[in-house]
Amino acid sequence: MTSAPNSLLADLAGELGASGVLVGADINARSHADSTCIAACAPRAVLRPRSTAEVAAVLRRCHAAGQPLVVQGGLTGLAGGATPRPGELALSLERLSGVEAVDPDAATMQVRAGTPLNVVHEAAAAHALQFALDLGARGSCTIGGNIATNAGGNRVIRYGMTRELVLGLEVVLADGTVVTSLNTMLKNNAGYDLKQLFIGTEGTLGVITRAVLRLHPLPRERLTALVAVESFDALVNVLREARATLAGQLSSFEAMWSEYFELALARVHTGAAPFTARHALYALLEVEAFEPGAEATRLEALLARLIEAGLVADAVVARSLEESARLWRLRESVGELLAELRPLTAFDISLPIARMAAYLEVVGARARTLFGDRPLYIFGHLGDGNLHLVVTLRAAGDAHAVDEVVYGALAGFGSVSAEHGIGVLKRDWLGLSRGAAEIALMRTLKSALDPRGILNPGRVL
Ligand SMILES: Cc1cc2nc3c(=O)[nH]c(=O)nc-3n(C[C@H](O)[C@H](O)[C@H](O)COP(=O)(O)OP(=O)(O)OC[C@H]3O[C@@H](n4cnc5c(N)ncnc54)[C@H](O)[C@@H]3O)c2cc1C
Repeated sequence: MTSAPNSLLADLAGELGASGVLVGADINARSHADSTCIAACAPRAVLRPRSTAEVAAVLRRCHAAGQPLVVQGGLTGLAGGATPRPGELALSLERLSGVEAVDPDAATMQVRAGTPLNVVHEAAAAHALQFALDLGARGSCTIGGNIATNAGGNRVIRYGMTRELVLGLEVVLADGTVVTSLNTMLKNNAGYDLKQLFIGTEGTLGVITRAVLRLHPLPRERLTALVAVESFDALVNVLREARATLAGQLSSFEAMWSEYFELALARVHTGAAPFTARHALYALLEVEAFEPGAEATRLEALLARLIEAGLVADAVVARSLEESARLWRLRESVGELLAELRPLTAFDISLPIARMAAYLEVVGARARTLFGDRPLYIFGHLGDGNLHLVVTLRAAGDAHAVDEVVYGALAGFGSVSAEHGIGVLKRDWLGLSRGAAEIALMRTLKSALDPRGILNPGRVL
């Protein structure tokens, strides 16, 4: 791939102004969350449009010149999708940021793509509403990146993935055409639902510039409990009972296997350990409380019943926001923990809960044969059938062999990506989760919407 000619960069600077095109030493060393798995190379320039019109101007010029671009939000993606490849310019949405409007009656918000997720949360909370997507990278990831990856996060069990929370989008196509589809209505079956083309397609079909989000009532409190169990069966029973008893108010059910839990406890936990004994598995539950007293009583009664039934070995309920934050840190400190475990390879897989125990046994046995006793760290959004596996490697070159073990055992019934996307890291494995006709249709869409292949080339397909 040849680098962008100086004449193109000069034209782009003419469109965006000098501060809109960073080159050379002005390109900050921006950190990518997926740098544990993929080496970044510096883009020739970082383009920083401030409006949809500027995004359109950039794409028009790059389309005409056949210049490839990598689209960038908050750079917290974990599949290598936003990491520049040789010859690419980076198109950053960081200056296209801000909440444009909140409609408390319709429970909607219109927002620019570069807005950080926590800013969206705060703007909704000011109206006693919530944007229900939540994940550990909330302070850095952007709503455009969340939509492009169809992010999952901690509350999928109650609210679904990002796709469920988006009503409308404005998108710029590869040739610079602006498609404004900022629908605000819950019901709208007038023709194709075009926004779905851009949700979860990882920036390969268009650049998201604005979005209309669906909001929900903000609970008065969030109750947090940590339970310990001795078997996977018991864990699944606890999930079933919690779903039934807490009706629709169970918003998270985060599982942690003991190797991961012990690591988090040793490295990031502050204060006394939640339990005196070690257990096989743990689950962090979050319940949204609209009548806090009544819901706390219901949660405690449920836990007492599960302990009496022998399903739960031990349980703690957070008594303050600080206690709740300490418990959540055990689950959300993954980023810090992973940085210490390099070289590693990490997985984000999805499979039916009914097949999880057998699957983990097969993978564990194969991994032990290949890599001896290197620990396998497992945690995930159990209620969504989504597991994250982290394998520490003897050498970075071992990653492919581990991929074969983890993905190979999943073929035919699971997904190689539950929520992080395919990016560049999982391209070789897409065929395990999608059939030939599905992949052919993906290619048809890609060539129809981006005939010159300038948007995020080499990602997904
Ligand atoms: C600590 C931590 C916890 C995480 N937890 C979760 C979790 O629970 N669930 C989950 O799903 N993910 C999780 N992630 C992954 C990550 O935060 C999400 O994938 C997030 O949605 C990425 O947003 P971003 O703005 O950082 O996107 P980036 O990393 O910048 O980009 C991600 C992809 O989206 C594309 N893209 C970005 N912006 C746009 C746009 N405006 N238009 C078109 N394409 C665009 C990029 O080209 C790239 O392919 C976590 C990451 C970290 C570091």
